[in-house]
Amino acid sequence: MLYRGPCDSKFSINPGKTPTHLRHLCNDAEGNGPSGICLSYLLSGYIPYIKRGSVHPHPILQRKLEETPEVSIIDQDLEYLSEGLEGRSQSPVALLFDTLLRPDTDFGGTAESVLTWWHKTNRAIPHLVLGRNPPGGAWHFIEGSMITLSQGEWMGLPDLQLKDWMRKKRRGLRNNRATAEDIAQYYQHYVAKKGLQKNFICGTVVTSVRKVSPDVNSSYAQQDSEGNSDSFWDFPEKEKEDDQIASGNLFQVDGFIKNINGGQQPFSIYAENVVLATGTYDSPTNLGVNGENLPFVHHKLSALEEAVKNKKVSMTSDPVLIVGAGLTAADAILFAHHCNIPVIHAFRRRVNDPGLIFNQLPKMMYPEYHKVHQMMKEQSVACPGPYECYISLPEHHVLSFREDKKCVFQDKSGHQKIFNISMAFVLIGSNPNLSFLPNNGIDLAIDNEQPVNSKRNPIDIDPFTYQCVQEKGLYAVGPLAGDNFVRFVQGGALAVASSLLKKANKNPP
Ligand SMILES: Cc1cc2nc3c(=O)[nH]c(=O)nc-3n(C[C@H](O)[C@H](O)[C@H](O)COP(=O)(O)OP(=O)(O)OC[C@H]3O[C@@H](n4cnc5c(N)ncnc54)[C@H](O)[C@@H]3O)c2cc1C
Repeated sequence: MLYRGPCDSKFSINPGKTPTHLRHLCNDAEGNGPSGICLSYLLSGYIPYIKRGSVHPHPILQRKLEETPEVSIIDQDLEYLSEGLEGRSQSPVALLFDTLLRPDTDFGGTAESVLTWWHKTNRAIPHLVLGRNPPGGAWHFIEGSMITLSQGEWMGLPDLQLKDWMRKKRRGLRNNRATAEDIAQYYQHYVAKKGLQKNFICGTVVTSVRKVSPDVNSSYAQQDSEGNSDSFWDFPEKEKEDDQIASGNLFQVDGFIKNINGGQQPFSIYAENVVLATGTYDSPTNLGVNGENLPFVHHKLSALEEAVKNKKVSMTSDPVLIVGAGLTAADAILFAHHCNIPVIHAFRRRVNDPGLIFNQLPKMMYPEYHKVHQMMKEQSVACPGPYECYISLPEHHVLSFREDKKCVFQDKSGHQKIFNISMAFVLIGSNPNLSFLPNNGIDLAIDNEQPVNSKRNPIDIDPFTYQCVQEKGLYAVGPLAGDNFVRFVQGGALAVASSLLKKANKNPP
């Protein structure tokens, strides 16, 4: 690292200058969800050691941990430590960090973490975390009353248990699970409690991340000579910095900051390393059928909540159409059911298809989703059942939406049906929005001819550093790298922090 102090200490936006150039070399995380927060914690100098006297229930791991107890986990060989671990993630480092934080959780145990955290400010790495909204990422968009799929303790971040925070807030877990609102608040609290706010710049939208080319450098250098950025930054190691620029080892991150008046202030940051932590919930998947852009067709659950609030739909309206058979569609059905709004529910799979998420969830733990599954099975258009205000259309797909608010469906035999609807909610998943990267980030994916997709085609990373195989200095964490659950995104953060510490030569001798 070129700078010793925290880079935010000089970060300021001067509205008089466009764009604001931050001539500061730091590391930069795009996205301020749980992945970005966990990474910021580690980069702020919080270093994990094995707690003296603790015994990990995994005997081989315990033996490895005993070999060098004085060396922090972040400085150890993550490949060696994680070798042979098994669990619900494909990522060895995600399994390692998870089992150190929650040693026996997959066996129903509640053993305490074997880690202890030391705050070593001399090992902090200057960084900024940029994000559109308050810290917490996707959790600020998920309907607040929705209950997490995961157990509450799996949603927690290092060294601040969710249950302890909930107890202090006098809130309880429901069936061991928390509401999305609690989770969003907990993440905001985490950032404040760990003193990370100074690294977070919220209300920031990144529009471009590019390797700096020599041409850009010259215009950048020219801008500096005009004195546009001197008021923000000093350059004690300018020569070194210029070397970095000349060698093309820098990223230019452009974007804008939203201000309270609704205006936008452009900015430009230069960073040695950039971590993509932007999640995968920004671009809802479309059906790609005629009429999908009509104003009564929506792609977000929040639009249904809004419509109910604004009385655009009620128990006397034509049914709302919900398309999809995932948990978001199920949440929409539960919400509509709760508000007595009539629903037509269309999905392509059979109700007993083993790939359907409802067939994979234990009934005892998820009674609400089990209820939706029951409705899907028992109340299809072909055989009316006991539930009011709900009809399911299994193995149907939407052919088109018409301006007169009729929707045309086709079943598996090719027969068409037409229903009147009041509004439609297409809830069939989402894709990352990587439009800020060259070629939408496709070149970084495992199959570099297909768009990035968290389940089918994540970004191709080194499993022990999370550095992109195709672009050195660029990292990806969270669902972008194939880690879809909060308990596992944290391993990616550990891998990145470990790699950046090595690069910065901040490892102890
Ligand atoms: C409905 C729903 C329910 C879920 N339930 C669970 C659950 O029970 N348990 C669980 O473990 N996981 C659950 N998940 C998944 C969980 O939300 C993700 O694993 C987790 O949030 C990923 O964290 P992240 O930090 O990588 O990304 P995110 O939380 O998605 O955060 C990324 C942030 O980056 C921002 N961003 C994107 N592009 C830009 C840009 N260009 N400029 C600036 N900012 C940008 C986004 O707006 C977002 O705020 C659920 C997800 C959804 C949608």
